[in-house]
Amino acid sequence: MTKTIRLSIGTAALLGLVQCKLDAAPTTAYTMTYTQSRCHANCAFCTQARNSSTNANKLSRVTWPVFSLDQVLTTLTENNFQVPFNRICIQTLSYPSLINDLSYLVTHFKKRLPQIPISIALPPLATNQLQRLYNQGVDRVAISLDAVTPDIFEQIKGDGVEGPFTWDQHYQALESAQRIFGPGRTTTHLIIGLGETEYQTVHLIQDLVNKGITIGLFPFTPVKGTPLAEMERPTLGKYRRIQLAHYLLQNQLVNANQIHFDSSNQLAGFELQKELLTDIIARGKAFQTAGCPSCNRPFFTEPPGGPIYNYPEPPTAEALHEIENQLTGVL
Ligand code: SF4
Repeated sequence: MTKTIRLSIGTAALLGLVQCKLDAAPTTAYTMTYTQSRCHANCAFCTQARNSSTNANKLSRVTWPVFSLDQVLTTLTENNFQVPFNRICIQTLSYPSLINDLSYLVTHFKKRLPQIPISIALPPLATNQLQRLYNQGVDRVAISLDAVTPDIFEQIKGDGVEGPFTWDQHYQALESAQRIFGPGRTTTHLIIGLGETEYQTVHLIQDLVNKGITIGLFPFTPVKGTPLAEMERPTLGKYRRIQLAHYLLQNQLVNANQIHFDSSNQLAGFELQKELLTDIIARGKAFQTAGCPSCNRPFFTEPPGGPIYNYPEPPTAEALHEIENQLTGVL
């Protein structure tokens, strides 16, 4: 059974386990399963992938130092430790004994912090394994499609990288999780900027919203040592248009048929009153990190100095001004 765990550097700093400046505090404690070997999957964008040459203490651009589980649990319960986060997230790698390690971690987190909800970002597990985690009190699971289309999925997570995953297997696992955990307690991650069109993205988001699946949006982030290290990031304009569309669809302020596209399937406008749209943009919530409740993932996909794609906190007036400029095409 695992006696070791990784923490995102921001989470470790929040717990006082490392000295490091926090430009924005995580509102979720980000943990990751630890295994001697690399992940058995081989996703092209991922630093933990089987063939990645990135240092194993990296996930996306963030460093995840290793700690003994006892040290972390002791810190969490010592001296009436005031828990400075609202959720625990367990990121996982794909390896044979994963479910046993997860079960062990959940048991101990639940014993020490019964009031803190747990999310787990999982590879597609069998229904009985999902049920086991649900029975142990896990609040939500995330099964990440990552890609917006089955073709892109194939290239970056499936046969294209000799990976073990298929689009259908992921979709079925999402639907099983939905049945077990109940509506609104299943999440998937989508990476924007892997070659999909904005039309395809908007219609997938609509489909997931119809199914009650929460979406964690990530801008593609090139990391050294992965096959996609030389690929460009999505433009801020593209990402803002998708963030805004996601917010309006998730909150049922429009549906996908009320979103217009130009001849290159780029998002061109919304059938929504201009005043309401301007007001929603000015509130800024649409541009903050999206995902499970309290998930703010500070600087997972961008350096604190910017450019900021996912705001971990409400954007400042200056940032909102920049965002409006980035959205000129759709206003
Ligand atoms: S959305 Fe956030 S909290 Fe939820 S699984 Fe993904 S990273 Fe974790």
